[in-house]
Amino acid sequence: MNETPWYHEGLRFCCTGCGGCCGGAPGYIWVNQDEINAMAAALGMAPEDFEKKFVRCEGRRRTLRERSNGDCVLLDAETRRCSLYEVRPRQCRSWPFWPSNLRTPADWARTCNDCPGAGVGRRVPFEEIEQCRVMIQV
Ligand code: SF4
Ligand code: SF4
Repeated sequence: MNETPWYHEGLRFCCTGCGGCCGGAPGYIWVNQDEINAMAAALGMAPEDFEKKFVRCEGRRRTLRERSNGDCVLLDAETRRCSLYEVRPRQCRSWPFWPSNLRTPADWARTCNDCPGAGVGRRVPFEEIEQCRVMIQV
């Protein structure tokens, strides 16, 4: 049985900074306590205060709030850049190399349609892709 993933030669990705994945249709930006702590520290806030202001519960999980237009609450409305980029959650860090986007070449093609940075630019090595793919699952 051949277990070599179809993307073993790497995939191209270079973020254009369009901000598309940080806004649009309502979604979830899952965060855990370590991520909340890091983002709160970056803003000089207590984690509890950060959570009250920027996080909401969805069942037993926590997600960053969104504005009424669908933008993530941490997206700078003018620059369309993440205001906490250095400490952004794993979900954002690992995009677009999520398991759901890597399952088949067709899934990756769909991702390339949704994200203008996917499929272009630097060829990201397989090892780096795998780090992202695993990161989002733990
Ligand atoms: S949609 Fe793609 S190109 Fe646009 S900001 Fe997100 S990762 Fe970057
Ligand atoms: S935390 Fe930053 S990178 Fe993640 S969705 Fe919000 S603005 Fe985008």
